[in-house]
Formats: sequence, C-alpha cells, structure tokens
Amino acid sequence: MSPELSDASREILSRLQTLRDADAPTHGGRVLSYVYDSGLAELDELAAEAMRLVQPVNGLDPTAFPSVAAMERDLIGFTRGMLHGDDSVVGTVTSGGTESCLLAVKTARDAWTARQVSDDQTPTGSLGLRPRIIAPSTVHAAFHKAAHYFGLDLDLVPVDENGAVTASDIASRFGPDVALVVISAPCYPLAVVDPVRDVATAAQRHGIPCHVDACIGGFALPWWRDAPEWDFALPGVTSISADLHKYGYAPKGVSVLLQRDRDRQRLQYFATARWPGYPVVNPTILGSKSVSALAAAWAIVQRLGTDGFAELVASCQRSTERLRAVVDGIAGLRVVGAPCGPLFAVALDDSVPKRQRVDPHHWADRVAELGFTLQMQPGLTQANGLHLPRTTHLTITPVTERMLDELSAALVTAADDVRGRAPANPRLAVQALRLSGALSKPLTASRAAALLARFGVGGSGDAASSHASSASPLPAKMAPLMALVELLPAAVSERLLIEILARQVEPPEQ
Ligand SMILES: *Cc1c(COP(=O)(O)O)cnc(C)c1O
Repeated sequence: MSPELSDASREILSRLQTLRDADAPTHGGRVLSYVYDSGLAELDELAAEAMRLVQPVNGLDPTAFPSVAAMERDLIGFTRGMLHGDDSVVGTVTSGGTESCLLAVKTARDAWTARQVSDDQTPTGSLGLRPRIIAPSTVHAAFHKAAHYFGLDLDLVPVDENGAVTASDIASRFGPDVALVVISAPCYPLAVVDPVRDVATAAQRHGIPCHVDACIGGFALPWWRDAPEWDFALPGVTSISADLHKYGYAPKGVSVLLQRDRDRQRLQYFATARWPGYPVVNPTILGSKSVSALAAAWAIVQRLGTDGFAELVASCQRSTERLRAVVDGIAGLRVVGAPCGPLFAVALDDSVPKRQRVDPHHWADRVAELGFTLQMQPGLTQANGLHLPRTTHLTITPVTERMLDELSAALVTAADDVRGRAPANPRLAVQALRLSGALSKPLTASRAAALLARFGVGGSGDAASSHASSASPLPAKMAPLMALVELLPAAVSERLLIEILARQVEPPEQ
C-alpha cells in the first residue's frame, strides 16, 4: 500500500477489505462462473498497474487522449486477426458483452430502418413493420434486453433437448421484417456452437446480417482443438462480439464488437451537433467513461500474445475434458448435449431409476458446502412446448487445473450425498398463491416483498441493520428459489427478482 496514505484513508481501506472478505473468492478456482482466473498472478499485477496509469483519463474523447485510441486500435487489430477478419472488418471496444450485443442490435435495427425508408418508394416497401431478431432460444439474455431497449421483436427458435438448432429451423423464419440473425459460439447456457456456416450462408443469401455472439468463446475457441469454423472466415458473418473480461482475463468492463463493412458499422455511432455544448460523437452507449479495463486488457493482450492465449486455452481444455469425464462417471447426472469450449451444463439423467437420479440444483447446493460455487440455471419451456430441464453450469478457467482433484472429489461426493432426493417443488405453494389471487394483482414493491417473505426469501428489508455490509439475507440454499423461478409465470418471477436485487441496495431506514 502506498506510504503517503493518512490513517483516515487506511481505515477506510480496511473497512473496504472487510466488505470484500464477504465476497465470493475471485481467485483460486472456487467460483465456476462470473470470474476468469488465468492463474497468473503477474497478469493481475500488470492489469492493476495499467489501470492506475489511466485512472484519471476520460475515454469520451480519444482526440484529447490519444492513448485511448492507440490501445483500442491494438485490441481491435489483435481481435480482427484472431477472428480472420479482413480490412473491411472494423470495431469498437465496449464496456462488456451486453454493450457489444446491444450495439450489434442497434446497428442492425438502424440499417433495417434505413432500408425500409429507401424501399418504401417501391410498392413492395414494408414500412410500418416492426423489425425482428431471429435467434435460438439459448441466445444470451443480452439480446432479450436489446430487443426490449431498442423496440424489436425477438423471435426465439426452439432448440432440441441437446440445445441444437438447424440452419433450416432458422432460415424458415426469414422475412422482410428480419433485421438480424443471432447465433452463438458457443451459447452460454449449454455451450452449444450453433451452425454458424449454414446460418450465415442462408442469411447472406437473403441479405440479412448475421451476428455471432462469441462473448464467452471469442478468446478461447480460436485455440480450442476441434472447434468448428465460426468467425469472419465465413463471408455471411457480419458482426462478432468477444469479451476481453472473460477469456481475455481482463477486469470487468471490456469487450470487443467487430463489424464487417464500414458503412454498416457507422450506424453504430451516435453523433449530434444540435446542442450548445461540445460536438458529441459516441461509438458506444456511455459518454464520459473509464478506460481502466481497456488499458488492463491492452496490457494483458500485449503480455500474452497468441502463444500465451494458446497455452491458457490448452489448460482450460484439459480441465474441461477431465471434468466432463468425471460428470459422465456420476450415476444420475449427465453432461447436456455436445458442448464446445471451456464450459458445459449438467442435467439430471432420467435414464436411471428414480432413486439413482441426482437433481442438479441440490447437487450444486451441496457442492457449494464442499467449497465450490457452481451456477444454477432454471428449466425452461420453449414456445413449441419442448422443455429444457434445469441444469447446473460450469465455466472452466486456467486456474481450474490446479484444483482438479479437489473439485472432482467434491462433484462426486456431493452427488452421493443428494442422490435420490426429489427436486425442490414449490407447486403447492404456487397453487395456493394462485387461488388466493395474489398473482393476479399488480405487484407493488411492498406486495412483492411480502410474497418473497412468504417464500422465505429475505425481501422485506427488515433484516437490514446499520452495518453497511448487511442487506436482506438470501437463502443459504438456492435450489428452492430456482424451482420457484421455474414455476411462477415469468412476469411474476421477473418482478420478484427485481425486488430482491433492489432491496439489496436500499439504505437502512432512518
Ligand atoms: C457473458 C455473455 C454475454 C454478456 O456479457 P456480459 O459481459 O455479462 O455483459 C453475452 N453473450 C454470451 C454468450 C455470454 O457468455
């Protein structure tokens, strides 16, 4: 710690340290989602120093701060080369995967709208239609958000029980209102790489842009053995999102969006010369912005280079193969489908007798008690009625390799401990709610909090003490909450989830 800090400042930092001690561990491989630990302490130091160097910089204006443009140029160049883009591929560093996805959709919407306006001079013009995004139902929630924010319809194509779609499932929905097709490499929930070549070819034939969401796979698949072709080498791919704050090992707040064709990409920008202040030109959503994560990512990419990435990915691949073999060997659980990349999902194996089955959420709760946090994903019934079962998700990072024995043992022991236990099922409680009419009344903040309390989820704020670190408690076991999310109407679940999160940051009552 810097020697010039006063006692008062040191005391503040020690309080922050105390708050941080309650967080999930960001290093060491105990949390298999959210965090991406290269296992290289030097990379973290390098990133911290780079962030410090740019701490006061405003990324709003790269003409005043040319270092920002220089770092961004390098990152875009590296990513473009890695993803086989030619000189027509240009890009932007964004604040994260969600922003990259949002901007891909905004660009497509504006291109579609511009085309409607010019086509409308002909009798076939379709002005008045609402633009539509087509994507498999495994597409990341960021595209639900983009559709919601930017006024597009999201047309979700059901996947099969392995999470797969075919290009013809997608192409059969093409029409004049389609502004964008989105596929993933791979998708987050089940790690399926969608059929990029066939979808991109079909889309190109119809003049429809095709975004490949490689937020999670972008900096891993280029070095993954046996990955299918999915990048700009395929001419129909018009944009790709790839997150540096995932397998680029940078601190949160940095992703790359690459787009083919300068003229299309310029639609991503916002500029105005119609106010009395400085001329505004923004490639991304924010105005003034930090470049800390960008600088950290730049430094990490300089340090790792292609060979460094290849080594780290090789480690992830070894660990992923080993863990998949471990799960395959556990009676009552199964790896879903044919995942590709350093992640996979685990579901209940119903090919074995009931008493041998393992509920993946009870399993995850038990694994947590044994020291590793896995991510629960609720089941989902798709538009065609095909149900995707609840799963537990594992994201594997380079540091995982050091924990393989302990983690493998925990996965096996936890399954033994919960095998045969019936999945959490709040059906009766939800039925009672329906009968009481509680689900048909609009959920105000206080009604939502009361409902949560009925389910034993701290939503009332009562538990908030004066201590800054305490908020409404979350349940120790998450399986019952996930089961509730599966069973309640989506709109009710969404409202309750909002209430839980919003109450987390409410200051205590005066
Ligand atoms: C992580 C992810 C996103 C969204 O990224 P954030 O960085 O969390 O905003 C989008 N798509 C996929 C496939 C992802 O894995």
